[in-house]
Amino acid sequence: MKFIGAHISASGGVENAPLNAYAIGAKAFAFFTKNQRQWFASPYTQQNIDLFKSRCEECGYSPNHILPHSSYLINLGHPEEEGLNKSRAAFNDEMRRCEQLGINRLNFHPGSHLNKMPIDACLDRIAESINIALEKTHGVTAVIENTAGQGTNLGYTFDQIAHIIDKVEDKTRVGVCLDTAHTLAAGYEIRTRDGYDMTIHLFDQIVGWHYLKGMHINDSKKELASRVDRHDSLGKGLMTMDLFSFIVNDPRLDDLPLILETPDESLWAEEIKLLYSLQK
Ligand SMILES: [Zn+2]
Ligand SMILES: [Zn+2]
Repeated sequence: MKFIGAHISASGGVENAPLNAYAIGAKAFAFFTKNQRQWFASPYTQQNIDLFKSRCEECGYSPNHILPHSSYLINLGHPEEEGLNKSRAAFNDEMRRCEQLGINRLNFHPGSHLNKMPIDACLDRIAESINIALEKTHGVTAVIENTAGQGTNLGYTFDQIAHIIDKVEDKTRVGVCLDTAHTLAAGYEIRTRDGYDMTIHLFDQIVGWHYLKGMHINDSKKELASRVDRHDSLGKGLMTMDLFSFIVNDPRLDDLPLILETPDESLWAEEIKLLYSLQK
């Protein structure tokens, strides 16, 4: 069974997230555990936590189908001490927030070298940051999102992701989320049957299929290997509908959160319906 949803708003309180997801017919959802553009956020209250949990239950959301996204400010491979410490503290806080909400996975962008350190050293540093966060929390998997490779962002090749995972001590609590738009922009042709199968095969060979903990389902405004991250609404960008059909008919993607991050939120309910309608 497929669990398709969207990255919905949690404004006004995290307990609103499951209601917002339910309102658009989502069977999975993502949200920011706190304001994604600010370092500080006040802790969840017991009421936030209790309401979030009871509403997830009422609306039928299992923790396996909720994939929160961490703040864009965090850079777990930051080349400088101050930025690194700040990032690690913020990431640990977000992991703790997930733990409080009973959520078992947190999606994040691995990090950027900012042209101030070699790629391999930055990947090692990201792994070290993950190790620290895993040591300080329980039951939450750190889910590395593949990136488009824009600027100095790392994690755009399967080899880079494998490098990070290789250095993570507790491999039961590290995972990967593949974003379709990032995958294309990073240079993996996923729009044809052969290209999709080859990409999945490569991922399995280099990273390992069992690490996949979710997917972001986006169309892309930018071409193959552009290394530019610009999402588009389904059918409006350079993806084919074939790709989305491959995904919703791929039994290997059963039971994973499949999350839309398309730019026009007024289309999400329709896009979710469209994806389900592609199932054969
Ligand atoms: Zn992301
Ligand atoms: Zn994404």
